[in-house]
Amino acid sequence: MDQIRQELSEQEWVMWFTNLSYESSTESSISVSVPSSFYRDQVKQRYLSLIGNKLADISGHKLSLEFTVKKIAQPHKGDKTESASHKDKQASSHENKKSNESSFSSQQNLETAKTHPNLRADYTFDSFVIGENNSFAANAAYAIAMNPGTSYNPCLIYGGVGLGKTHLIQSIGNTSFQKNQRKKIVYVTAEDFTNEFIEALRVRKTHLFKNKYRKVDILLIDDIHFLQGKNETQEELFHTFNALYDGNKQMVFTCDRPVSELRQLTDRLKSRFERGLNVDLQPPNFETRFAIIKQKVEEKGTPIPDEVINIIAKNVTTNVRDLESALTKLIAYADLVNRSITVETAQQLLKDVFSNPKQSNISIEMIQRVVAEYFNLSVNDLRGKKRTKQIAFPRQIAMYITREMTEYSTTEVGNDFGGRDHTTVMHGCQRIESRMKSDSTLEPTIQRLIRQVKDYGIKP
Ligand code: ADP
Ligand code: MG
Repeated sequence: MDQIRQELSEQEWVMWFTNLSYESSTESSISVSVPSSFYRDQVKQRYLSLIGNKLADISGHKLSLEFTVKKIAQPHKGDKTESASHKDKQASSHENKKSNESSFSSQQNLETAKTHPNLRADYTFDSFVIGENNSFAANAAYAIAMNPGTSYNPCLIYGGVGLGKTHLIQSIGNTSFQKNQRKKIVYVTAEDFTNEFIEALRVRKTHLFKNKYRKVDILLIDDIHFLQGKNETQEELFHTFNALYDGNKQMVFTCDRPVSELRQLTDRLKSRFERGLNVDLQPPNFETRFAIIKQKVEEKGTPIPDEVINIIAKNVTTNVRDLESALTKLIAYADLVNRSITVETAQQLLKDVFSNPKQSNISIEMIQRVVAEYFNLSVNDLRGKKRTKQIAFPRQIAMYITREMTEYSTTEVGNDFGGRDHTTVMHGCQRIESRMKSDSTLEPTIQRLIRQVKDYGIKP
């Protein structure tokens, strides 16, 4: 550990190694415990070879490393032997994928634990499904909750509506609170912060306001875009920020766009928000949408078959809030008529939701099918590794169409086309663009394929 520490930044060290502890060892292996399977996966991904090499250097032979997940001791249970732990099985690739999409497993038992007065008890890391769209933000949020004030201060989480900003920022509050209930944790929306400040001004009690906000251990302010144009509140927040920053107190903010795009926000406040870590939340891809609905179905306990989850995940592509409202509608119906939901009833009930123009309804897979069929290839060819000319060109066309018709990032597109790098996607799209200039038949072909994708319609 000492040797590893010298090779990492303090931040990395604190984040990934201080929660790792030695458990036991044999001739050929060492077992360490970590607070969650999320942590385990991250540490494995980032540091397995580093740790392995160090162990080999020191011991003179290769040692395997085993991880045991030990949940954080719960405040009201106390007894360490009760906290569940399980041996990390050699994850098959299937499990690997699953853990990628699954939520944090360091469950805080909120039924027995006291809940924080300002926070929603169900906004926890445990109920937050992780996919590639949000893993960086969830990652950072979790690290902050484990070690507030030490790494990533301040942290700003930004992203569009319904993508989980409030859920994540409150999860930080909930987890920190469970870890240490004496910590003063304040969660407030920027709107309430503003109103409270205005009221304090009105009744001449700004000293009370300052007292409240400058004496917290963790300050969580949601939706700071609301502060635009509120100059006096900005001024007050600026001073609050400086006081907390100097005292190494953790601050987390959320915003609906990157800070650089905020208007009517003083430069000095902008630069404060930008000082720490800024992470974004993207719309979830199909697999993550599926995993989210599946988790919510399980939470609610209404039986909904996977085929139904599948069509919701395929058709509702905007954000998690829309996924939830589609599901709520189905569950309400199931409860009312006391019947289980079939694909047909779901399609009928969600017709309006699915045809909402806001919904692009288009998945990468649909595009791959249409393009594959046109070129007489299989979808697997497009998703595969082969780079023969017969496949590479259609694949580039499919990538190009995906970028034209959907909001998927080049990283996501790359992933769905055989795990290719985002630069490969960019390069492929550029190739198609330049070829369209020299080959006049290409553009009509692409237009035709785009129309076919649109006609693909709502399919179960
Ligand atoms: P935002 O604050 O970004 O507008 P919210 O945090 O309010 O979004 O999220 C909208 C809804 O979607 C909430 O009910 C939240 O619990 C849920 N949600 C968002 N992201 C996830 C996720 N990754 N896993 C599970 N639920 C999620
Ligand atoms: Mg919100």
